[in-house]
Amino acid sequence: MARYRESVCRLCRREGIKLFLKGDRCYSEKCSYERREYAPGDHGQMRRKPSDYGLQLREKQKLKRIYGLLEKQFRGYFEKADRQKGITGNNLLLLLERRLDNLVFRMGFATSRTEARQLVRHNHFTVNGKKVNIPSYLVKIGDEIQVREGSRQVARIVEAMETVARRGVPHWLELDRENFKGIVKTFPAREDLTMPVQEQMVVELYSK
Ligand code: SF4
Repeated sequence: MARYRESVCRLCRREGIKLFLKGDRCYSEKCSYERREYAPGDHGQMRRKPSDYGLQLREKQKLKRIYGLLEKQFRGYFEKADRQKGITGNNLLLLLERRLDNLVFRMGFATSRTEARQLVRHNHFTVNGKKVNIPSYLVKIGDEIQVREGSRQVARIVEAMETVARRGVPHWLELDRENFKGIVKTFPAREDLTMPVQEQMVVELYSK
């Protein structure tokens, strides 16, 4: 599968916000965005007034990068969201939030979504007792995500669980640290998703 191979910190600088793509480093003073709060490249410090299209494009790129998706995958989520009842933007956010790698990250079994994706692919988790190694697996309300017994000593998981205290677990999830498991109590409401993204602009961009 194609992957983004440049420094992911450039993506934060490009979008003008912290996207939290590098785990613990993002919460430290080593964060590149904290040190250079302008876009990368020779013209990164020039200020230009973006067009409407430019603004919509940036919102789409931001959202896509937060969840670590490529264009084709992201577009697929949009099309699915558009076919569902309700507000397309909300549907889109909910689909992204329901991905297994996102929930592994939100529950604190990984320090970033990228790390969560690798851990899922490497067979470290079960969903409702069954091994699942597909990062895009869509989790439902009531599903139980658990670190497999043989993976509970994996240093990356143990360290992530130690640092989750700093980030906290969202109220719509329940974490049982002792048993290395988390439950999806309910789905998040829009106001529970605090990242600064205007999903309506993404809808406008794709609806042209
Ligand atoms: Fe973004 Fe994290 Fe890099 Fe900071 S350390 S620029 S938040 S990926």
